Amino acid sequence: MASSTNAFEMAQAQFDHVAELLNLDPQVREFLRWPLREYHFRVPIRMDDGTIRVFEGFRVQHNDARGPHKGGLRFHAAETADTVRALAMWMTWKCAVADIPLGGGKGGVIVDPSTLSVSEKERLVRGYMKQIWKNIGPRNDVPAPDVGTTPQMMGWMMDEYSTLCGEYTPGVITGKPVGGGGSLGRTEATGYGVVYHIREAMKHLKLDSSQCSAAIQGFGNVAQYAAIGFIELLKGKVVCVSYWDREDRAPYTVSKEDGIDPHFLMSITDQYGSVDKEKAKKAGYVIEDAEAWISKDVDVLIPAALEGQINAETVQKISDQVKIIAEGANGPTTPDADAVLKTRNIFVIPDFLCNAGGVTTSYFESVQNDMNFYWTREEVLEKLDTKMTQAFKSVLDMSEKEKVCMRDAAYMVSIARVVKAMQLRGWI
Ligand code: GLU
Repeated sequence: MASSTNAFEMAQAQFDHVAELLNLDPQVREFLRWPLREYHFRVPIRMDDGTIRVFEGFRVQHNDARGPHKGGLRFHAAETADTVRALAMWMTWKCAVADIPLGGGKGGVIVDPSTLSVSEKERLVRGYMKQIWKNIGPRNDVPAPDVGTTPQMMGWMMDEYSTLCGEYTPGVITGKPVGGGGSLGRTEATGYGVVYHIREAMKHLKLDSSQCSAAIQGFGNVAQYAAIGFIELLKGKVVCVSYWDREDRAPYTVSKEDGIDPHFLMSITDQYGSVDKEKAKKAGYVIEDAEAWISKDVDVLIPAALEGQINAETVQKISDQVKIIAEGANGPTTPDADAVLKTRNIFVIPDFLCNAGGVTTSYFESVQNDMNFYWTREEVLEKLDTKMTQAFKSVLDMSEKEKVCMRDAAYMVSIARVVKAMQLRGWI
């Protein structure tokens, strides 16, 4: 497989590999290797100092055979059309593996959101919506939060869309704040989903979760709730998380060998995701280099930051103690690193299975918006657990039946479902 770290080439290489295993028709392959539609546009906004800045925005719609395109919006300084294409394609497989009636899409803006004031952020998301509103909608394409975007930003976008089309339309976007059309349980959904998958993997591998430790990369929404879930639901120990240093423009690891307290760390993490290092040190935490998380002697590694983090170089640092890698992030493992993991017999829960809890709860949110009737947090999390457990089981069964790794098995399950929908609709 290709050794590229270009996310879209990576996504295509993974797909090609399984298309080959499935002996998929060449025309269907070509159909699925590319997004159906892409929008590239500019978003001019007035900054607080009166100047105008123009941001570059994208929305990519990969496939909607199973239902409306679905996927987050990333605001990131290093965003590219190819990253958004890859993420849109992974959303198609993610919704299919979770067996929710949605397709794949993704959006992005090239911007470091930590450089914007609150009102600049509001103008940027409203500006983004003005450019794309005619091409999205509850029955067509439904965005959601991702790296660099928040529930509040989703609330503003929903408001802008509702104003532009002249009627209250909560279902145009998910991940909205609770009380503003959002669903209870959505905030913790992706992280908890990761933990439900780890629980199932541990049952399969006959591991006692209360005796297991984990190292987490990142401390955004997914990492925070993966840490809380690992400790509170599985009774395990988390030894580190990692942060991005805005001044040094580099990541670093924050560790505590006898176990971190994610609630404490959240209380000293600011709105841009930076931790108060002095307070952390006083409480016994150690600040280590960027890659310290990956070389920890733990049972579970949870990459929950960005793509390409476990690559040909970093994969060599993984301890022999590691038994499970639970991919909370999208695309954290490059194909060449994946090949190494296979030889080392590490059980990988692939990204679009592992982190499907977020979009599954987004689906529950849109169902509640349509009904105009809202479930309790317990109801949402119970439904989420059922969906994730079923998805895990269907992938594990496929992996045992076809004697392939979990990633290839997840692709097999998803591709078969998408191809079936395309056939049923008469597309192929
Ligand atoms: N951004 C999340 C993901 O990558 C959630 C997408 C959604 O809820 O639509 O899965």
